[in-house]
Amino acid sequence: MFLTFDRWEGQSPSLKFDRNFTSLGRQSNLIATVTDEGAGLKQVVIDLKLRNKTINLVNKQYSSPPIFYKTTEKNSSESFDLGKITNTFNQIREGPASIIVSAKDFSFRGLFGGNKIVIKKDFTFDFSPPKLEVLSGQHYIRQGGSECILYRVEKDTHVSGVKVGPHFFPGYSPQLSDKQIRFSIFAYHYDLPLNSKMTLVARDKAGNESRTMFRIKFFPKKFRHRRIHLDKQFLKKIIPKLTNKNPELLEEKDLIKEFVQVNNELRDLNHQTIKKISKRSSERILWTEPFSQLSQSKVESFFADHRTYFYKGVRIDHQDHVGFDLASVKHYPIEASNNGIIRYATNLGIYGKTVLIDHGCGLFSLYGHLSSISVEQDQEVNKGDIIGLSGSTGLAAGDHLHFGLFLQGIPVNPVEWWDRQWIQEHLWERINAIEKINRVGS
Ligand SMILES: [Zn+2]
Repeated sequence: MFLTFDRWEGQSPSLKFDRNFTSLGRQSNLIATVTDEGAGLKQVVIDLKLRNKTINLVNKQYSSPPIFYKTTEKNSSESFDLGKITNTFNQIREGPASIIVSAKDFSFRGLFGGNKIVIKKDFTFDFSPPKLEVLSGQHYIRQGGSECILYRVEKDTHVSGVKVGPHFFPGYSPQLSDKQIRFSIFAYHYDLPLNSKMTLVARDKAGNESRTMFRIKFFPKKFRHRRIHLDKQFLKKIIPKLTNKNPELLEEKDLIKEFVQVNNELRDLNHQTIKKISKRSSERILWTEPFSQLSQSKVESFFADHRTYFYKGVRIDHQDHVGFDLASVKHYPIEASNNGIIRYATNLGIYGKTVLIDHGCGLFSLYGHLSSISVEQDQEVNKGDIIGLSGSTGLAAGDHLHFGLFLQGIPVNPVEWWDRQWIQEHLWERINAIEKINRVGS
């Protein structure tokens, strides 16, 4: 038998916070983890130092492991929820504060006193929610449509934007002389309950949140119902394009099952991909002119058409169509609907060969079912540039363009974005009005 050598280890305990912080609010979470990889923790003391007093948050002594211990017998790590502990002290006021963590281990070093660390972290207690001021007056939004709000935030605001039901639309800076101005372009998902709440929110770095209502009028919209009749020939054509199954080996009921699976699961997956890509949007509006509908095209399907699918007269599925189907001639050159940056230019499940253009501030256009793509990811395009040729790749019966617009990954009705006057009134006039007020004021 011999003494375990690591009781003489010289490695001090270490401290890690679960995040960087310079301020803490009332409901902040903050996990501190104290670790000793060597002989194990002997003592952890955590104090909160305020302007005129010190509060002890944690004082923990650990029992000594036996001299000949197994690694499982030592206390190598413990986490403390300092956010939760601090919340129990209601005498804490706003202002500067420090957290002081001291920890000792069971090493025989330091005259058997152990290796020791003392770490001090300064921060500020901030319990005041950031001020929020709405600058644009009356707002209007249609079911499935978009709207823009202008507002002013306080300097320490970390995130701000509009919440519509469960969806969040972040604010961006319009680059005006007043740096605290933000705008948020938000959408009312066509599928949301008609009384969904719309709130402007701002959160500071300490996690304090402000919420304010704003003047908005909501207009419900009726969407079309369409019956789509599928036949065996169509299923046999579609299934091998979207799955790796051989349709000749499938019975009729399995062909239907495969179609329903593609129409639901693959569709969802593709929309999740669009949502993920939307998060990488440019922080600036990349265009000035209104969006354009494909030239020489005829509308075959409208935004949010409710489609019920039948096979031999039996209802087998239901889906909503989140875009426009625009038909022209076969392999028609597809124009970019506005200036932007290509963020996606390859296959995307039900949409087949697909191009996604980022127009900035969360707005993306989608071009689906292309037969060929002539642009690459990260390439900049101008309105009217040819990005590929129309086709029938993916879940498409014939040659057409599926055109969709997404705001932070939420499908929106393109009609408003094709309308010069709508854009003028809802976007440019509101932003310009702010700069005018500033000019008068200065
Ligand atoms: Zn379509």
